[in-house]
Amino acid sequence: MTTIDYEKLYVDGSWTAPESGQRIAVHSPTTEELIGSVPEGTERDIDNAVAAARRAFDDPAGWATWTPARRGEALERFAAALEARGAETARRVTIQNGMPLWLAMNFEAGFPAMLVRYYSGLVQAGIEERRQGMLGKQSLVIREPIGVVAAIVPWNVPQAITFLKLAPALAAGCTVVLKPAPETVLDAFMMAEAANEAGLPPGVINVVPAGREVGAYLVQHPGVDKVSFTGSSAAGRSIARTCGELLRPVTLELGGKSAAVVLDDADLLQNAESFFASTLLNNGQICWLGTRVLAPRSKYDSIVDTIAGLASSLRVGDPLDETTQIGPLVSQRQRDRVESYIEKGKSDGGRLVAGGGGRPAGRDKGWFVEPTIFADVDPNATIAQEEIFGPVLAVIPYDDEDQAVAIANGTDYGLGGSVWTADPQRGAAFARRVRTGTVGVNGYVNDPVSPFGGIKASGMGRELGPEGLVAFQTVKTVYLDEPNS
Ligand code: NAD
Repeated sequence: MTTIDYEKLYVDGSWTAPESGQRIAVHSPTTEELIGSVPEGTERDIDNAVAAARRAFDDPAGWATWTPARRGEALERFAAALEARGAETARRVTIQNGMPLWLAMNFEAGFPAMLVRYYSGLVQAGIEERRQGMLGKQSLVIREPIGVVAAIVPWNVPQAITFLKLAPALAAGCTVVLKPAPETVLDAFMMAEAANEAGLPPGVINVVPAGREVGAYLVQHPGVDKVSFTGSSAAGRSIARTCGELLRPVTLELGGKSAAVVLDDADLLQNAESFFASTLLNNGQICWLGTRVLAPRSKYDSIVDTIAGLASSLRVGDPLDETTQIGPLVSQRQRDRVESYIEKGKSDGGRLVAGGGGRPAGRDKGWFVEPTIFADVDPNATIAQEEIFGPVLAVIPYDDEDQAVAIANGTDYGLGGSVWTADPQRGAAFARRVRTGTVGVNGYVNDPVSPFGGIKASGMGRELGPEGLVAFQTVKTVYLDEPNS
């Protein structure tokens, strides 16, 4: 099999030699074979990338000073170049992290270009507002780009998450240093090729793949004005400490342990596809999944049977096969972690009703884990409190809606969630009571127009929607010497 290899980094608008000979090797989670490699960025590479982004931002006639319409033309070229590479980008994500290809075509192929166009349009709709004053004169409120952005992303949905940051940042007039996760670099280099083809000015986008130490170096770099991070809560806390000390604006999209609350009138079988998409999508490796399923005691046995049946019927296999519903986990490390949670679930007295044996039959290669459902889980048990990030659900019984709300709200996290019911109004009423950043009724889909993000240990700030643009802008007021009109 031919591998995908890059020799240079995309910095300052061109492919440039890295500062060291270190490399990141990428292995297929399905076959464990080597599938590609790229240079591993070092602190010196980060220095070069930040300097390039700084020059591009500070250029008195540069990107940040262009009109939104002029930036919009360049961003349209970028969106078209991304779209042209969509299918290959999706394939690269699948072979790197195990995301089923049909899902990668959904999340990773088209979403980036959609977001670039959405934010370009939002900025063109206006970044200045004239206000009539209460003290007699007018003022002008201007939204300016916040500066050089450090964007640090994880491997689970790498391109969509990258563009939650890049699309609003670029539209606002910021310049970016992107640090992809070492597990998913080949898609990031494809994105850099699109930026290069679109002719974005040098330094507007720079890509330096590396591990966490180099990521931490980027966060504290004196040339950075804003940090936008998606990843684990542990890393988020460390980044928040650094940014707190520096008084550096930061957006944190972190982990989750969301509740999928089944009300007593729900028909899960009728909603089986949405329920799967809200709880086990991407092999269980999405931050907002409802991995705690809360089921009413009045219908408990039949709900447990339905979920166990659903999980057991899922097709586990090669993520490039279009019928596969559950692919492998991203790495051996991740599988070890998930398997240790399954063992913990067993020793804590959870009742296994599906999976739990670890490896699916016939899969001796690859980082596969059987979809696993525990019933009768104590809401305070480890597998009901900690993020597992694999195809493992904990079903927890409840007596009434008040108790369901208390259990749903009873974790350190607050990112996603869902409510399942025959009555959408009842679902919306229940959704209001859940302490979380986002929650869906009979499904969960991140619509680009509405903000996404978490509370508590799930993070700070919002992405998507107009709120996701504000994160990359500062607000300047000019008190005009002009009387009210
Ligand atoms: P991780 O925190 O280990 O790594 C994420 C990224 O941050 C990687 O690029 C990594 O190299 C970098 N990094 C790690 N520590 C860093 C530090 N101290 N300073 C700077 N950079 C650092 O997370 P992971 O295991 O790769 O990803 C899975 C986690 O991400 C899960 O907890 C998941 O819930 C979370 N996640 C959250 C969202 C969201 O939007 N809330 C989306 C996807 C994933």
